[in-house]
Amino acid sequence: MSHIADPQIFIILLDIEGTTTPVDFVFQRLFPYVFRKLPSFLQEHFQEPETRLLIRNLYSQHQTDERHELMPPAWIDGSDQLLQLRSCVAYAQWLMNKNSKYAALKALQGKIWQEGYNTGELQGEVYSDVPQAFERWRRQKRKICIYSSGSVLAQQLLFSTTKVGNLTPYITAFFDSNIGAKTEVESYRKIAESLGLISRDFLFVSDVKEEVDAAYDADMQVILCDRVSGHQRIQISPNAKKVIFSFDEIFPD
Ligand SMILES: [Mg+2]
Repeated sequence: MSHIADPQIFIILLDIEGTTTPVDFVFQRLFPYVFRKLPSFLQEHFQEPETRLLIRNLYSQHQTDERHELMPPAWIDGSDQLLQLRSCVAYAQWLMNKNSKYAALKALQGKIWQEGYNTGELQGEVYSDVPQAFERWRRQKRKICIYSSGSVLAQQLLFSTTKVGNLTPYITAFFDSNIGAKTEVESYRKIAESLGLISRDFLFVSDVKEEVDAAYDADMQVILCDRVSGHQRIQISPNAKKVIFSFDEIFPD
């Protein structure tokens, strides 16, 4: 097996889902957690102005959905707190089943995740080779950065709460879609610029071919990360320097 050992590379830029973390983490852990916690979270925070605002925003979205005849579950907006709460839970769960991206729903999900991480009920997940790779790359004086479409806050919560502890001290910078889409060449140029470096100093690692292609076009070195195909080499981006199955293959000692 040939290893990635280019001494020129100074910064390792990593994707999260499908690269440092199983894709299932979001769909099997994060989403079911919100689904389950909605009733108790809303009940506990019902009197707080921030929660009232979230509920009001969801309610106005519900009215829009009704006008568009999308048939959301009925919302009883009386003075009865319990009925209001039940209506809100039913509607939010209905939206989640449709994988809705409404801002009001996203904001509510974010609040519930934050609480889950803070209480320790949720724990960030990384593949077992990730912590030792972070340690090794740091010893080699390389820097680690993250680029994911999940918000910077969500990224930080994930890496600060893993089974092996807080991994954020290993990470120099976090980037999310505020810098641009992951399939856009310009995003990768901006990331390099924002750190005062040139693209050639970077190695970008992701499981998505279109992202790897964009980084390559921005003049970064690239690796396609394949965590799932069980070493059955699947479609390989012609741009990818190589495909890896584990971080053990990137700058081994
Ligand atoms: Mg990915």
